[in-house]
Amino acid sequence: MKWAALVVAAGRGTRAGQGVPKQYRRLGARPVLRWSLDAFAAAGANRILVAIHPDDRAAFAQAAAGMRGIELVHGGETRTATVRAGLDALAQGEAVDAVLIHDAARPGITGEVMARLLAALSDAEGAGPALPVADALKRADADGWVTEEPSRAKVWRIQTPQAFRFADIRAAYAQLDPMRAFDDDLAVARVFGLRTRLIEGAETLAKITFAGDHDMTARLLGVGPSPRVGVGFDAHRFGKGDHVTLCGVRIPHKKGLVGHSDADAAWHALTDAILGALGEGDIGDHFPPSDPKWAGADSEIFLAHALSLVRARGGALSHVDVTLICENPRVKPHREAMRRRTAEALGLALDAVSVKATTTEQLGFLGREEGLAAQAVATVLI
Ligand code: MG
Repeated sequence: MKWAALVVAAGRGTRAGQGVPKQYRRLGARPVLRWSLDAFAAAGANRILVAIHPDDRAAFAQAAAGMRGIELVHGGETRTATVRAGLDALAQGEAVDAVLIHDAARPGITGEVMARLLAALSDAEGAGPALPVADALKRADADGWVTEEPSRAKVWRIQTPQAFRFADIRAAYAQLDPMRAFDDDLAVARVFGLRTRLIEGAETLAKITFAGDHDMTARLLGVGPSPRVGVGFDAHRFGKGDHVTLCGVRIPHKKGLVGHSDADAAWHALTDAILGALGEGDIGDHFPPSDPKWAGADSEIFLAHALSLVRARGGALSHVDVTLICENPRVKPHREAMRRRTAEALGLALDAVSVKATTTEQLGFLGREEGLAAQAVATVLI
């Protein structure tokens, strides 16, 4: 039997927290959507088609990077419209006998579930994974007053993917008002008289809907955020002046540092380290020195920008380590103040911030006190 996977990923729901649509957040080493794409590819799907929101093309390209033959369609205004667009797209090209319609917010799909679904289509026209209900059920009014106690018997929690004979489900969707809402595709099938049945689902297929679900799913699938380490380096020349700014702390000195911004080499190296952990280029890409806007700028702006990129990816900065390299000024008396300022700027605990200093034993340009350098390492969890 030839079968296609139709992955519904057009939602922009951010109820699950963070700015990124939940299907593009990272779960372990892969975006949530990629988990499903890999599972369908491994199970031997003849075609895999993803319905996305038109604004998410770049995020989708990143999620599907390196995979061949993944097809794409733009979703509609409602889930009903999106599934219909997907089925219409699958009607073109290589013909399939069956389709598994899957919600991208359920990354924990297994080969066993897919095999059970496809087998069920030998006598059913639609099939979906289901799990028993362990909790007691109540119906209540809008104020929370219990009005009814439905029996748990014969009641099931339904998951996706849901499997259908392709021609049947396409014909059903073709007749639907695209604005009409359904809880799932089995409900659509039943409206059109298709015989649907349940097969055994899997706890790993839990849906990421609300804040906290992402972490719960990560635990179910046995994955944690991946640590990434970035490194940065910067040097600035000494010039006229009476102080230098390092890690946001003003340190009196007989010379100043020459630079387009406030020349805080330590925070520049740190900004590059964070950008490096994200693979987001370097500080010059984000704040071109040719742009007069950054003349004399407080380097906290650069650091805050790099941190905002970490958060936009749903990640967290976990630790930074800065080494200053110079003969003078002496760093040690200011080291704790520099640590505190850096911790404050990055929202980190003090013990997650290290500031160290060394000299080059009077060797080279640093030894001759022509300038000052800094290197930094940042660990980001994504
Ligand atoms: Mg610099």
